[in-house]
Amino acid sequence: MENAEVSEAQTESTIRPVGPGRPEKKNRVETADRPAAATHDAADRLDVLIVGAGPAGLHAASTAQDLGLSHLIVDRRGVAHSFVEYPQTLRFFSPADEMEVGGVPFPTRGGDKPTREDILPYFRSVVRTRKLCLAVWQRIASIERDDAGFLVRTLSEPDGDAEYAYRSRTIVLASGVWDVPARLSCPGAGLPHVLSRFDEPTEYCGMDVLVAGGGNSAVHAALTLAEARARVTLAMRRSPAPYQSHLRPFVVRDLEMAVDEGRLRLVTGAIAARVEPQTAWLQPADYDPLHPAGGVPCGDPYPVPARFVFALLGQRADPTLFEQLGLALDIDGRPQRDEQTFETGVPRVYVAGSLAGKSIDVIVSARDQVAGVIRRIAERIGHN
Ligand SMILES: Cc1cc2nc3c(=O)[nH]c(=O)nc-3n(C[C@H](O)[C@H](O)[C@H](O)COP(=O)(O)OP(=O)(O)OC[C@H]3O[C@@H](n4cnc5c(N)ncnc54)[C@H](O)[C@@H]3O)c2cc1C
Repeated sequence: MENAEVSEAQTESTIRPVGPGRPEKKNRVETADRPAAATHDAADRLDVLIVGAGPAGLHAASTAQDLGLSHLIVDRRGVAHSFVEYPQTLRFFSPADEMEVGGVPFPTRGGDKPTREDILPYFRSVVRTRKLCLAVWQRIASIERDDAGFLVRTLSEPDGDAEYAYRSRTIVLASGVWDVPARLSCPGAGLPHVLSRFDEPTEYCGMDVLVAGGGNSAVHAALTLAEARARVTLAMRRSPAPYQSHLRPFVVRDLEMAVDEGRLRLVTGAIAARVEPQTAWLQPADYDPLHPAGGVPCGDPYPVPARFVFALLGQRADPTLFEQLGLALDIDGRPQRDEQTFETGVPRVYVAGSLAGKSIDVIVSARDQVAGVIRRIAERIGHN
């Protein structure tokens, strides 16, 4: 819900381009919700530049504000872009109070768990209520280190026709892991009916659909497709016992109920071996996450009808930004960091939110982690 108290009329912030040879023209911060706090001039150094306007970035900015640090959030898309991309029909597993950020209350009708349609206006209301400073629809073109921190240059998205530059003492990367979908590696994986994002089930009504994947997103998609009367096979690499430990309890309950009632077919201990038009071949396999195929084959492949295949195998962060900063990466694609301070191998660059670790990939955990990072930054630069 929008915060009715917040006026639509807001002040504008100006950013003066910095760097040799740049004209003294003023660029406007392109922001969905223009900040009323401190008109910011990039020639003055920010205390913290936050990359990513998801829940972690919004909470980081709010915490910085509470501690008297100047901040700017840069996002290559709009506010909470990952949530914009989540399925339209999604109802979150967390209650609303566990998804609050920046100390802004998140009431839902009847105390229900929030849906995607609840949370998108909520995140907009956080930006307005907290008067956060945003530079959205800007992609980072370069990051240079200088004596006192960083010079970050950005280009407007999607055309790249405007340039901006910001100096900051520190950088917090809160850019999430919702960037590059993991893809099937079997023959036929690149066919047009193999999809890596699920949005809305209606157009698959009456279709044979294979959903490959064992996470909460794959199960949500399979259940939603089955509800929309698609004929669904859900194939997981794990065998029954481990898949249960991997999923939220209520997701397991809903899945098992759907299987018992014959609303969908669940196949465990199987990997996609080949995709053809109309058919996918599944290979029985003993689950092994270290095996390149995700399991050791143990039987003959068999066909399942599949007019469409949803390969919902998880997401990884886009490494481009990390390459610009020269960050070493873990096997899961997250930047290597100190597990206590969350500082990366590049001094004064920190990670926050889902990018900081798989165990932090829920908002209630990210809040504490992010706040800790910002407190450490405040201590470091003498704002405590
Ligand atoms: C289907 C699904 C259901 C979920 N349900 C829940 C739930 O019920 N409860 C819960 O707590 N969590 C849930 N989660 C997890 C939750 O969404 C994440 O924990 C959360 O989004 C992580 O927040 P974040 O701010 O770290 O990253 P994100 O929300 O991914 O935000 C990252 C932001 O960074 C921007 N960005 C990315 N790369 C760059 C770049 N190079 N430059 C500039 N900007 C960039 C993106 O545009 C985005 O706006 C769910 C996730 C999924 C997929």
